[in-house]
Amino acid sequence: MSTSSTAGTSTAGTSTTTAAAASTLSAEPYFAKQWALYNDGTFTVDSGTSNTMPEMPTITKPEQGGTNNWNNRDGFRAQLPGGRTGGNTSSRTRRLSYTRYATRQITAVADIDIDAPEAWAVVGDSGRDVVIAVIDTGIDYTHEDLSNAIWTNTKEVAGDGIDNDGNGYIDDIYGWDFYNNQAFKVTTSTSEYDHGTHVAGIIAASAENEVGIAGINANDHVKIMTLKVLGGNNGSGTTDAVVNAIKYAESMGASICNLSFGTGTYDASLEAAIKDSGMLFICAAGNATRTMTGDNTDNNPIYPASFDLDNIISVANVTYDGTLDTTSDYGTTSVDLAAPGSYIYSTVSGNSYEYMTGTSMAAPMVTAVAAMVYSYQEDLSLSEVKDKLLSSVTKLTSLDGKVATGGMLNAYNAVTSN
Ligand code: CA
Ligand code: CA
Ligand code: CA
Repeated sequence: MSTSSTAGTSTAGTSTTTAAAASTLSAEPYFAKQWALYNDGTFTVDSGTSNTMPEMPTITKPEQGGTNNWNNRDGFRAQLPGGRTGGNTSSRTRRLSYTRYATRQITAVADIDIDAPEAWAVVGDSGRDVVIAVIDTGIDYTHEDLSNAIWTNTKEVAGDGIDNDGNGYIDDIYGWDFYNNQAFKVTTSTSEYDHGTHVAGIIAASAENEVGIAGINANDHVKIMTLKVLGGNNGSGTTDAVVNAIKYAESMGASICNLSFGTGTYDASLEAAIKDSGMLFICAAGNATRTMTGDNTDNNPIYPASFDLDNIISVANVTYDGTLDTTSDYGTTSVDLAAPGSYIYSTVSGNSYEYMTGTSMAAPMVTAVAAMVYSYQEDLSLSEVKDKLLSSVTKLTSLDGKVATGGMLNAYNAVTSN
């Protein structure tokens, strides 16, 4: 698809959208808000609608005893806008106000999107089954738009207090809660799950149920495994929980992991866990961790995104005019590509929907398309999927010198490239 970073183009989307795909879109009441999938240049943010920017949830080494070296080292916390309090690990969430974005007056540019409808028309309902591990704050799997997207452990019997499948985890039907060390179970929908639920909706909310949004994976072959490693109102957790979740994911059949969190503290055990895994890891590049504008992570790494490992894809956040979001980290060595991450409309707890902004939202766009390609092209390895995603980006001059590929995710190119 041709693209331009010049505002004001009147190109009405793309011509390859099929009637079937279009009817699927029209069935989704909020689809017009999903510029990331199909941007016709008319997208505007609803006046007065909240847009939260959960800072990428962070992980710490347990032996740090509640003190985060990263925060203390540079004293950057005080420079951050809005909502930040204190200097301890329990205050990790930054919420950027709607007005901060409104003053930027971004004008949508047609076809700055991932060409999702075009990709759906190619992929259809065929493909192998793929399990994605969303290692995050938990997922409200009772959400009306996610019920068909959630992986469950069919070898486990719920609630009998027995580890029926002998995997070391008792009653792990909906994955595992490594934050509280118990089977993951939604008893009450809580905002603590919002971050993970938003990620899950981007990947695989139903696109055909005439409710809510359209997730990127429109068929039933892609399922999401819920692994909770982050908790509290601010989404923090430990490296140990992440490492154990990675091991669980792989042993239970996941092939792709979404990691929308980060820390500036290097941890050899986390790097080893990813390096030793056969899975593909899609990581958020980071959101202006030190200052109000994005950092070059070639110089100031954020982990896990900045680990130099072949099975990691690091993702920056491009907004709906085709420019890198000002809060997105970048780096021509440490960041692979950009994907839509600004004003992303997706599922949150309690059958609700909300805009969120950040590389936390950009990463699951790539995760979803990785799963789409891996499902559709059944002979591909995961490393070939990575190559395909990176070689099929839509090049944008605004991303030249910002990310290694100089481009943004394109689902249609990825599923059709040879
Ligand atoms: Ca079990
Ligand atoms: Ca059981
Ligand atoms: Ca839906």
